[in-house]
Amino acid sequence: MYWEKNYETLSKNELTDLQIDRFNTTLKYAAQSSFYGNLLQKLGISPGDISDIRQIQDFPFTTKQDLRNNFPYGFLTLPKKELIRLHSSSGTTGNPTVIFHNRHDIDSWANLMARSLYCAGIRETDVFQNICGYGLFTGGLGFQYGIEKLGALSIPAGAGNSLRQIKLMQDYGTTVAHAIPSYLGRLHEVFEMHGLTPQKDTLLRTLVIGAEPHTEEQRKRIEDLFGVKAYNSFGLSEMNGPGVAFECIYQNGLHIWEDAYYVEIVDPDTLQPLPDGEYGELVMTTLNRQAMPLIRYRTRDITRIIPGKCKCGRTHRRIDRITGRTDDMFIIKGCNIFPMQIEGILLKIPEVGSNYLINLETINDVDEMVVSVEVKKEWFKGDIHKLDLLTKQITSMIRDEVLAKPIVKLVEMGSLPQQEGKAVRVLDNRKNGI
Ligand code: ADP
Ligand code: ZN
Repeated sequence: MYWEKNYETLSKNELTDLQIDRFNTTLKYAAQSSFYGNLLQKLGISPGDISDIRQIQDFPFTTKQDLRNNFPYGFLTLPKKELIRLHSSSGTTGNPTVIFHNRHDIDSWANLMARSLYCAGIRETDVFQNICGYGLFTGGLGFQYGIEKLGALSIPAGAGNSLRQIKLMQDYGTTVAHAIPSYLGRLHEVFEMHGLTPQKDTLLRTLVIGAEPHTEEQRKRIEDLFGVKAYNSFGLSEMNGPGVAFECIYQNGLHIWEDAYYVEIVDPDTLQPLPDGEYGELVMTTLNRQAMPLIRYRTRDITRIIPGKCKCGRTHRRIDRITGRTDDMFIIKGCNIFPMQIEGILLKIPEVGSNYLINLETINDVDEMVVSVEVKKEWFKGDIHKLDLLTKQITSMIRDEVLAKPIVKLVEMGSLPQQEGKAVRVLDNRKNGI
């Protein structure tokens, strides 16, 4: 069952032909922007010259810094009167990154979103509550347009206010909700505080989770707490936002929509392409965007292509869960560590809540990793000895995984800072940086 069978089940050759065709069209638009116009001239490539899709590798990478340096209009291919929307990052550090869309771009994004939702088993009969910020953040409107295109009843709930979210679910019989994974632990606490359970007191059957890194353990925990299936949704504003890659009902990697994006995995150090199966940085080229195409954009996200075919019959390849970003990694006591390694360990321990924070601090001139972990309040009332044992257990599990010994602090549920948007998992307060 497909949203668009003719696109989702293309044979390898058909898909490649479509990619070549769409890349040539992309170049036609790109040539109209000052950034790519100059580049194409320098490379001596004209739109229409591409006959083998691997020629994409003749292009240099585009980076976030390029977007910032050419802010706001350097990548724009069309006159402003043809644009209908922009999305931009917050830009707290330097120029924001902004992506412009014309009507074609918005329509094709909405279609990719609808395709994604359909692929996760969501249908027009569903009631879909979008628990996520509307505005410049792409998760709000990105999902909104997709839900409408699919034909499900949308509840544009916005972020936060958990009690209101629960009331909306109950009043309108929400069957599907989308939220960032770090928020869902909190939402569940509010259910509990009011003596409610999602299983008994709502009709929820599916969650869509994404926009921030999370582990398989986190997903399992969310599925258990809510008694639902939780599907992973991946996207980034530079590639529209959500609707780039999505899990199908088999929950075995995320189909990345290869008719809309050309996908490469490269070694982040040598920048050489890696074969399927190997982890590296995801690099993407838009194949169906007009107002602001991007060629070989370095996402900084680390993943791999999962070799082999998916049982669902979709031929678009699958990427694995994002293990982190190239700029997420920190080094402590000589060990390279990704926050998700720590999350993976913590969430294997049933006593541990879903919220945790990694503080990198200099204590007595030594850089230390202090991991604060929330556990249920009851733990602080009972036997101190038990708390001590749990602390030791977590310490040695983390040390075995990342090879550096952490300082583990157990804290009461709800005491760690909570973000409005995406979770902040690491605070670096070391004296000398890394
Ligand atoms: P959006 O506004 O769509 O969240 P941003 O550009 O702010 O887009 O953030 C995109 C980044 O969020 C990605 O590059 C990636 O690092 C992270 N991200 C998004 N979805 C996921 C996901 N499902 N799993 C892990 N990380 C994700
Ligand atoms: Zn599949």
